[in-house]
Amino acid sequence: MLKNDQLAEWDRENFFHPSTHLAQFARGDLGNRIISGGDGLYIEDRDGTRLMDAFAGLYCVNIGYGRQEVAEAIAKQAKELAYYHSYVGHGTEASITLAKMIIDRAPANMSKVYFGLSGSDANETNIKLVWYYNNVLDRPKKKKIISRWRGYHGSGLMTGSLTGLELFHNKFDLPLSQVVHTDAPYYFRRADTGQSEADFVKQCADSLEALIAREGADSIAAFIGEPVLGTGGIVPPPAGYWKAIQAVLKKHDILLIADEVVTGFGRLGSMFGSDHYDIEPDIITIAKGLTSAYAPLSGSIVSNKVWKVLEEGTDKLGPIGHGWTYSAHPIGAAAGVANLKLIDDLKLVDNARDTGTYFNQGLKAALDDISIVGDVRGEGILAAIEFVKDRDTREFFDPALKVGPQVAAALLERSKVIGRAMPQGDILGFAPPLCMTRAEADMIIEAARDAIQSVASKLG
Ligand code: PLP
Repeated sequence: MLKNDQLAEWDRENFFHPSTHLAQFARGDLGNRIISGGDGLYIEDRDGTRLMDAFAGLYCVNIGYGRQEVAEAIAKQAKELAYYHSYVGHGTEASITLAKMIIDRAPANMSKVYFGLSGSDANETNIKLVWYYNNVLDRPKKKKIISRWRGYHGSGLMTGSLTGLELFHNKFDLPLSQVVHTDAPYYFRRADTGQSEADFVKQCADSLEALIAREGADSIAAFIGEPVLGTGGIVPPPAGYWKAIQAVLKKHDILLIADEVVTGFGRLGSMFGSDHYDIEPDIITIAKGLTSAYAPLSGSIVSNKVWKVLEEGTDKLGPIGHGWTYSAHPIGAAAGVANLKLIDDLKLVDNARDTGTYFNQGLKAALDDISIVGDVRGEGILAAIEFVKDRDTREFFDPALKVGPQVAAALLERSKVIGRAMPQGDILGFAPPLCMTRAEADMIIEAARDAIQSVASKLG
């Protein structure tokens, strides 16, 4: 076995890590951690340190680490048939079974699943399908996509453009011109602190209307949104938001893409976020929880309405010119089948609702008296704590103080618990695996209180 020092050296010399301060890493100012194992909520590194992962990797290891059922399904598939493509009507037992399992669980009116590898490529697929759809319907001008500021939809050219976070645009020449952004449904950060939630929802819908009027409804093809804003701050929508937004979209014949990469398969305590909030999407993006990240796999679930037009298109134009070598990869599909079975057998969606509610209530109660805690919010097993300099005026900290990252670092150092400092704002996020117990929830709550208090006392 290679020595840790050797691996650390090769790591700095050869490995281009994503979402990393490259210069700090190369200089050694930023540490590396080599992960070697995992079990339940815990991961272990090569130094033997055991950490409680309260963010499930990148909110994706929903069934928890070390599930042998999924590992065995992957091994069995790899031995029988590691690969065959899915072009021109080919498939495997795993990919066909998984497509059926997804449609059986999906919201009403969904027809077919197109498989990809990542959330980003699934959203790229979705935009191509929307463009194709409007071309088949002979509406060649109807192509722009509306996304929300603070939305996260991936890191590709189109998906990085849909993402409404500065870090993902800066110096990459994004967003592309086909993307326009509208307001984030972020009630805590509304400009007018005296505004009611209902008035804020109306403002979001009015501002969407105004954007559509400015651009012209005949130029807008689709709206994309996460049921709960994820990477942009873990922000559940204000009451009535989705109803108000959908009314505007319907009026202007604009398709709705629900990006359920985080919320799909139980995270909110419902199988899909769309069911949770009465969203009726035309296309749904899935990834992460589809395989609990045991193998890379994503999907675009296409509604009956869209599917009908796609079929019509191929009758006119021939086979659809869109495919990845690894679409419906048998190993990913086998992982997906085993993962969805486990979610059912262990009743993880129910646990996400019950233990998630317990966790969110516990966090609120435990953090209420700490002066820098401005907001504690969440839904299912998804939670965020937002830090403020002044609770009454809701003045935020100077971003240079990096209060969010300081709290995440204190959490790790003092309690060996992993939370995530969200990239825009001083926000600590939690998204533990859906199998979390109440005892584990209590440990995270206790660790969060301790970490926040230690940073608060340093800030004075
Ligand atoms: N959509 C959402 C809502 C996400 O949270 C993510 C990733 O975090 C993506 C899309 C992109 O997925 P991937 O990183 O697999 O490309």
